[in-house]
Amino acid sequence: MSPSSNPVAVNAPPAGKPLVTPRQLTLVFVVALALAWGFLPEFTVSVLSNIGLYALVAAGLVMLTGVGGMTSFGQAAFVGMGAYATAWICTSPTAAAWLGGAVSPALLPWAGLALGLVFTFALAWALGAVTLKLQGHYLPLCTIAWGLSLYYLFGNMEFLGGQTGITGVPPLVVAGVSLATPRALGVVIWAVLLLALWAMHNLLDSREGRAIRALKGGRLMAESMGVDTARHRIKLFVLAALLAAVSGWLYAHLQRFVNPTPFNLNIGIELLFMAVVGGAGHLWGAVVGAALITLLKEKLQDVLPALLGTSGNFEVIVFGLLMLFVLQRFADGLWPTLSRLASRWVRNDARKETAAASKTAPAQPVQLAQRTLPASGELLLEASDVSKRFGGLVANNAISMTLKAGEIHALIGPNGAGKSTFFNMISGVDDPTSGVVRLSGQSMATKPSRAFAALGLGRTFQHVRLLGQRSVVENVALGAHLRARRGWLAAMLRLDRAEEAALMAEARRQIERCGLGAHADTPAASLSLGQQRVVEIARALAGQPSVLLLDEPAAGLRHLEKRALSVLLSQLRAEGLGILVVEHDMEFVMNLADRITVLEFGTVIATGTPAEVQANPRVLEAYLGGADDELLEDAR
Ligand code: ADP
Ligand code: MG
Repeated sequence: MSPSSNPVAVNAPPAGKPLVTPRQLTLVFVVALALAWGFLPEFTVSVLSNIGLYALVAAGLVMLTGVGGMTSFGQAAFVGMGAYATAWICTSPTAAAWLGGAVSPALLPWAGLALGLVFTFALAWALGAVTLKLQGHYLPLCTIAWGLSLYYLFGNMEFLGGQTGITGVPPLVVAGVSLATPRALGVVIWAVLLLALWAMHNLLDSREGRAIRALKGGRLMAESMGVDTARHRIKLFVLAALLAAVSGWLYAHLQRFVNPTPFNLNIGIELLFMAVVGGAGHLWGAVVGAALITLLKEKLQDVLPALLGTSGNFEVIVFGLLMLFVLQRFADGLWPTLSRLASRWVRNDARKETAAASKTAPAQPVQLAQRTLPASGELLLEASDVSKRFGGLVANNAISMTLKAGEIHALIGPNGAGKSTFFNMISGVDDPTSGVVRLSGQSMATKPSRAFAALGLGRTFQHVRLLGQRSVVENVALGAHLRARRGWLAAMLRLDRAEEAALMAEARRQIERCGLGAHADTPAASLSLGQQRVVEIARALAGQPSVLLLDEPAAGLRHLEKRALSVLLSQLRAEGLGILVVEHDMEFVMNLADRITVLEFGTVIATGTPAEVQANPRVLEAYLGGADDELLEDAR
């Protein structure tokens, strides 16, 4: 019902109907900036250009830190690489001899850009390969270390002019027009920034973007969906470094000289401030943060010395306090607060966009990779004498079991019996201390869990692992990661839309099938825990698995939901899937499973049909002392 057709609402002021979409707002901002650009005072233009340069680096940090969960203090060093590369090529006689006059002077800055990008790419990849494996605080510490090293390197290299740096960097020349003034170059800076924001926005809204978002939650979930997390982390690191290098290149041609000072660790910290203060996970937050801190620095440098009577780097202290305040009050930076304030006027149409993407048929429909399901009764998964020790504790003791196509096999046992550990062994999360796991006939020793995923193993987790802030449909689409191919570049350039539509359609199909159709566009975290478990099942199904591992899928479900889950699992069994389920609800297990394996203290104490297991004296004994006497009641 529209507000006007509601008799009560006739005299009420028009309900707060949002006026614009974020896209329109961005357009208004860009057009206003473009129109005003020619008339703004020289000083403002220069400040805006600096903001653009900072925002470019900060946007890379938003991707790296805010989205990917990796903190870097050393980004200023990559800015320096971009700046020094072009300054050196444009001014050094060695470089001139090197190029042998093959490059005309007007093209030298472009050679500088190429050199800067190549160098940064190589260095970032190498640094990333070494440092990104580090966990916890070690990564940030490492970025400080190489941030400092590069800074000192710039200052100590004779051919880079030492502390004095390099002067006489020529202006950029584009199509015969010299961009010597900030007003002219500023246009390029903002064009590059907007282009980069567009490309990264596209990247995040894609298959690879979902993989990138999954990095933050740790390796386990992402790898189980088939994402090569190490590779994605390095690529993200390189992307952020390349953006920094482009910023450095533009900076060198704006300032027309370079020296080591602006590539100091201080600036690296400031850049991180910008990304975090603006809104760690939001690309436009980088622009807000860059603007805020640049303007603040400008003001503080005027005000603080007058206030304190001395000059010094007091703004660093004030920044620190500001950062504390913002992180206290606005945990996710300022952008979410700003967008909430603006939500009266700005309609959030992101959901409609994904809905549209999945509903409008693409010009050339794309088929996702299909798996031919195994014939019923075929052996899918085989564990032989799998043991796992944690120090002195034997969590799994020579467990052997099989899973066939078209059966539901339940794994039960008291808490701490080793069920989750066994799941980790047969899904590649952890390697058995001894024993062999075979999936579809292949020995899986030392293979990562994404190799299990590639062979058709889908799983859920005992402790739900979803991207809470993302919609259910995005979460489920992540499960289909391996069924699509498009990479980063295609996503950035929006060449992946047909495939993306197919992924979204598949995700919605699985959500419908699992009975969550009404929640497809809600953030996963706002669902009940039971429903989140079902989302995990839908996500596993999106990968079109032949083996499904479910760790306590019925926990937290209401009675009717459990019944629906039973129906779904029976249906999947009929389709030929092999399902291994860990579950505490005995009624659920006894009615559903074809075979049951009982674990106690890491050892199999019984295997058989539900009736056989219920009659087994060892099983009854195992359950007698425990909190789980449901089995006993069932057995009576
Ligand atoms: P279940 O899922 O059956 O409740 P788990 O497989 O989680 O049991 O745990 C089995 C035993 O192994 C428990 O005693 C647990 O404390 C121990 N355990 C599990 N994971 C680890 C680990 N990473 N390090 C040390 N001990 C562990
Ligand atoms: Mg468990």
